Amino acid sequence: MAYPPRLTDEQYAALVSDIKDWQITHGSLLKLVHTDEENSVQCHPVGTTLFPTLFPKELFDEAHELQRVYNKLYAAVAEDDEWLLEVLKDLIDVDDLASALWDIYQEVKEEGCVQDLTLGIFRSDYMLHANPTESSQRPQLKQVELNTVACAGGVHTNVVSDMHRHLHRTNAYRSNHPASSGDVNIGSSSLPPNSTLKALSAGLAAAHKAYGPAKSQGLTETCILFIVAADNFNIVDERPIEYALWGESIPSYRVSWGHDVLAHTSLTPTRELLYHPQSRPIAVEVSVVYFRSGLEVHEYNEIGRMARLQLEKSRVIKSPSILSHLTGFKKVQQALTAPGALQRYLTPEEATKISRTFAPMYPLDDTPSGQHARTLALDPNTARNHVLKPSLEGGGHNVYGEETVAFLKQTPEELWRSYILMEKIIPPVLNNFMMSSRGFYEGPVISELGIFGVCLWKRVQDGEKLRAEMVSELDPSWSLRTKDASVDEMSVVKGYGCFDSPALVDWDIFMSVLKA
Ligand code: ADP
Ligand code: MG
Repeated sequence: MAYPPRLTDEQYAALVSDIKDWQITHGSLLKLVHTDEENSVQCHPVGTTLFPTLFPKELFDEAHELQRVYNKLYAAVAEDDEWLLEVLKDLIDVDDLASALWDIYQEVKEEGCVQDLTLGIFRSDYMLHANPTESSQRPQLKQVELNTVACAGGVHTNVVSDMHRHLHRTNAYRSNHPASSGDVNIGSSSLPPNSTLKALSAGLAAAHKAYGPAKSQGLTETCILFIVAADNFNIVDERPIEYALWGESIPSYRVSWGHDVLAHTSLTPTRELLYHPQSRPIAVEVSVVYFRSGLEVHEYNEIGRMARLQLEKSRVIKSPSILSHLTGFKKVQQALTAPGALQRYLTPEEATKISRTFAPMYPLDDTPSGQHARTLALDPNTARNHVLKPSLEGGGHNVYGEETVAFLKQTPEELWRSYILMEKIIPPVLNNFMMSSRGFYEGPVISELGIFGVCLWKRVQDGEKLRAEMVSELDPSWSLRTKDASVDEMSVVKGYGCFDSPALVDWDIFMSVLKA
């Protein structure tokens, strides 16, 4: 069986034209920020697949079920600064981002934290993993990473998923091609609706409500503040969340990372955060700060650090708090794969379910596991099956396969401990068509499923220790990104992949397409 169905040239041209119209009318776009045409709106379409990509229904459901356990785990870790310090201390010594964040945390801790609620907006990313020598074996879910800060792509996927379902409804995928009779035709029930935009705005709204009324004298209004990158080209992934909040009568503003945070916010003596919009003669008390920036090391210059410190010291509910931000470091992901680590936070059943999604991961330190990893990473025959990762976000930082050998040899050995080594996930290869800034593509593709977990938790004292108590959680929602199978990286906005949606199928269809 083949998928996607073969289309005639006329059908293909009509499909591309329909997609372009959808992209314009629904904002599947990236803004061109440095243009001088004042009266024009200039954008590029964001990369998209032309068809939804096949995905096993059972694993899609399993990833959703797992998310509540991942929420519990990452909330618990974010309130365990002792364990986090143990895990991150080597990194803090050599990594500028880890040390900047940890310093800010220390300073806030000394003054005392005045907000015990945190809003987690996580995205757990999975690839399917299949043993290449066992072609009849069903693939499994393997986690690529879990993001805890500025998780992007939710709104873009929402739009692309709506587009695929629209195209399906209009019969754009029903082939006239004479050779298409054996191709897989998906039914509309295979295309799951996407509610990521709703989940993100509802999560922020729940945190806003939990903050309660304004606490500073003379102020009645509270607002959510988005902390965004200056010259942001990815507004389409953020603005609709703001608009949805305004639609629920929740004031939402945005301010750029760094200087603008310091210029337009202030702390009251009792640490309420006030926002003073540049263009409006008002001050509003901030209930929730939602970071869509602040994940890159260059953002932590002196001004950037002061800005993050001011926000962190304040009474606002943060998404994420600085400790929750640190839990997204790959070093933490690797440490959670060590024997016994999950049992600190989860029941044995939960730990078993989660650990099944782990690919083997190693530190690159002096421990026996680290020594083993160094051997693996320095031998081209074993390096080939691994990925070397620094604790950085946003794509473009990993070193893949045999390149690791030369990379490590030219990197001072004292810095090796800031990397982790991860076994390569070997995904089954499917086919699709893609349209992106790289042009048109037809051929083998690899997909990554992202599950958004949105949850609000409270730090509570439990004897000597602190722990996280879940206050509210939303149903998980998803994103899907798909790339040319020959490309290692993924970030869509950096041009490596495309937004996509899954066509959920039973195993027999999935496996027969793989074999075709
Ligand atoms: P980033 O923080 O840069 O997004 P990731 O861990 O997500 O870091 O890695 C970037 C991309 O590299 C992933 O989206 C995936 O396509 C690829 N990748 C990462 N880890 C693996 C792995 N173990 N096996 C195969 N590909 C991987
Ligand atoms: Mg990633």
